[in-house]
Amino acid sequence: MTTTAGLDPEVALPSRRRFLIGAGSAFGATWTRAGPPSSSDDRPPVVVVGAGLAGLAAALELAERGVPVRVLEARSEPGGRVRTARAPFRDGFNVELGPWRIPASHSLTLGFARKFGLKPRPVRSDQENRNYYVRGRALRGSDVRSRPELLPYELPEEERRLGPIGLWERSLEPYMRLRLPPTVNPWPRELSDLDHLSLGEFLKSRQVSTEGLRMIGDMLGFAPFLHTAFLANFREELHDYHDGFFTIDGGNDRLPKLMAGRLKDAVQYGIEVVRVEHGGPRPVVCFIRDGRRERLVAERVVLAVPFSVLRDVVFEPALSPEKARAVRELNYEPATKVVLQCRRRFWEGEGGRRGGVTYTDLPIQSILYQDWSDRADGRGLMVFYAMGRAGPLDQVGTTPELIRTAIGIGEKIHPGLGSEVEEAVAIRWGREPFARGAYPVFLPGQESEMGSLLARREGRLHFAGDHASVFPGWMNGALESGQRVAHEISALT
Ligand SMILES: Cc1cc2nc3c(=O)[nH]c(=O)nc-3n(C[C@H](O)[C@H](O)[C@H](O)COP(=O)(O)OP(=O)(O)OC[C@H]3O[C@@H](n4cnc5c(N)ncnc54)[C@H](O)[C@@H]3O)c2cc1C
Repeated sequence: MTTTAGLDPEVALPSRRRFLIGAGSAFGATWTRAGPPSSSDDRPPVVVVGAGLAGLAAALELAERGVPVRVLEARSEPGGRVRTARAPFRDGFNVELGPWRIPASHSLTLGFARKFGLKPRPVRSDQENRNYYVRGRALRGSDVRSRPELLPYELPEEERRLGPIGLWERSLEPYMRLRLPPTVNPWPRELSDLDHLSLGEFLKSRQVSTEGLRMIGDMLGFAPFLHTAFLANFREELHDYHDGFFTIDGGNDRLPKLMAGRLKDAVQYGIEVVRVEHGGPRPVVCFIRDGRRERLVAERVVLAVPFSVLRDVVFEPALSPEKARAVRELNYEPATKVVLQCRRRFWEGEGGRRGGVTYTDLPIQSILYQDWSDRADGRGLMVFYAMGRAGPLDQVGTTPELIRTAIGIGEKIHPGLGSEVEEAVAIRWGREPFARGAYPVFLPGQESEMGSLLARREGRLHFAGDHASVFPGWMNGALESGQRVAHEISALT
């Protein structure tokens, strides 16, 4: 079995941290000026930090408006959290290590895919094909509906009859009746008043019993989010999952790769921005390239990196106190994925599963069965996807240990799994050096305190990224924020 992964923190952290500790004193005259922008235009470029979807969308829009632009990206490829793994899997397999589904309501993501000639392919709905493994018991979705007595929770009569989905829907019912779109911003009063509640507190306030809460947590995948703001989770409900999901045929990373390709050498890789000086008439971006310190004068700067990594960038002078606090405190949740290439899609024989998901109360949380039913060699991919903190999976050290531990847990649901696995890949997003988390999720009160600050510009510094949009945690938000920033800049120049 081959195992691969993103950088382990032991490898990734020391060099970055070592440098940053000394950053306060290391700047100044030793920085060399970076070469001129690649276009013949001698205006200073708008410098975009980060070649994720947000940075690329901003750069493309600006370039189309004739603005000289330069994108500085720390990694060796574009896409940021949009990452598709192909190796070491057999020919033709690909799997998403980051975002994997595009709700039908996310017209911007779907529109960008189509604009770049890509084909959004429907994903088989996990609503239709949902199984569970909770408290040591395997249950099918149909069992939960037709035989509620099988639910292994001590539930009041009504909650047992409703089951996890019915109980969740009952709790949300007065708010779903408002028929709000996912773009609603700000929240209407009856909702904004609830911002101080965590998801767990909200459910209790809706008379959900302690066992009902556990059932919803385990069986709907909410357990890792019970401490996060109710409203952040409610917004997800507004995305109307029932209309179906899409993925980009051949891998979601094809989109950022095509976007970056269109920008040609305006995108530069292996450049880690570590400091932004913005006290003078024009901001100066300081970065490390090939171990050398360089600086680049910009017309304006677009910071299109998650706040979880922006925390490590030094601003001189400091950002306004409110903005600095938002950068420091915005909550990011980690996520772990372990992908297994199996020699047989044995799960298709277990109840005829094709695609679909098993939710569990184990540290792997959920198993996504990739739909490769048209593949002649019978092989398949399964993905263990733990959102938020993943207990024992967070604690094990190396990637091979993580994979072994995850397979050991998976054996409870699929005995014999270990002998089916040919290849494995794992990623822990909380340990990825240029992400430091999977997605922003507000804690109670954060949206009221800092929601309107996230996207607010500070002089010539502009902020993009999924966190600075009404779709935090979604590609649609990243793209929307990139376009918004480009309009913001055009309006000012
Ligand atoms: C596990 C997981 C599952 C997800 N599931 C979904 C899903 O199903 N559907 C969906 O729509 N979205 C999903 N998302 C969210 C989606 O991936 C993000 O919302 C989106 O990709 C964010 O794009 P961005 O451009 O804002 O940020 P990023 O993609 O994080 O881009 C930031 C870029 O900045 C670079 N960078 C960072 N620091 C520096 C620096 N100092 N100097 C230079 N460059 C730097 C990074 O390398 C990166 O390329 C998921 C994310 C994860 C991790």
